[in-house]
Amino acid sequence: MNLAATSRHLDQCDTPQCRQLSGQVAIITGSTSGIGLGIARSLADAGAAIVLNGLGRADEIERTVAELAQLDVAVDYDPANLLLGESAAELVHAAFERHGRVDILVNNAGIQHVAPIEEFPIDKWDAIQSLNLAAAFHTIRAAMPGMKEAGFGRIINVASAHGLVASPFKSAYVAAKHGVLGLTKTVALEGARQGITCNAICPGYVWTPLVEAQIEDTAKARGLDRTRVIEDVLLAAQPSKRFATVEEIGALALFLAGPMAASINGAAIPVDGGWTAQ
Ligand code: NAD
Repeated sequence: MNLAATSRHLDQCDTPQCRQLSGQVAIITGSTSGIGLGIARSLADAGAAIVLNGLGRADEIERTVAELAQLDVAVDYDPANLLLGESAAELVHAAFERHGRVDILVNNAGIQHVAPIEEFPIDKWDAIQSLNLAAAFHTIRAAMPGMKEAGFGRIINVASAHGLVASPFKSAYVAAKHGVLGLTKTVALEGARQGITCNAICPGYVWTPLVEAQIEDTAKARGLDRTRVIEDVLLAAQPSKRFATVEEIGALALFLAGPMAASINGAAIPVDGGWTAQ
């Protein structure tokens, strides 16, 4: 093995002129906020052209596009609503048409709802399966032919610690995230001979609008106040007693997208302060 060449390569790429993802195109679903935006920043900083996607106010999205473009990369915003399978596929087809390639696909968009199963609204169950699981199937299905033809692809699914273990009152989310890990392993096997990897990142609690939004519902479901929910429910499972950061998730996504991750395939990598080690 040529270790000298490897370390020379890393040294050479440690400059602004040699960004490791230059020339590549990355789609990040649900990247108008939270973890997706953190991943988009990391990939843009490494030189990848970015296709942003997600909901939000037009003025805020414009500001995000402008902020990322300052990293000297092309940035497009695609408003596809991924609750609809055909929109998810269209997001990928549009990116191939615009850029001629899609090297990195990050399936990150997700929603949550917290309620005991006997009261769980059926429309929430359906929406969580559609966005958190089926949308990833549709984007991957649309991206695979182009990636196979190129002989290269990096698919990164943002699952969750709840893809590995369960918590009460999150039946739809836990089921969908366990499904994402099954999808990840299957795609890993199907693309392995064509230079395509598919891996899942399994964050524990990361402080984002998704977590903020579930505090009230969790408080109601468990009869606790806000502080007790944060300390006794959310961080109770996380031995580090701190929230993971979007920058930490972005750094892992960047590594998985890069050349040194070529042999990591079908993995589910926890970023959870030790939660799922228990
Ligand atoms: P967030 O609410 O900040 O971001 C969710 C993103 O998905 C936003 O950009 C939103 O606009 C987008 N989105 C929502 N509905 C959509 C739709 N119909 N079509 C397209 N985009 C849509 O949440 P987050 O915490 O950053 O979560 C991102 C991912 O990380 C989710 O899959 C979530 O399950 C996962 N996750 C989060 C945590 C956490 O603690 N925050 C932990 C584990 C896993």
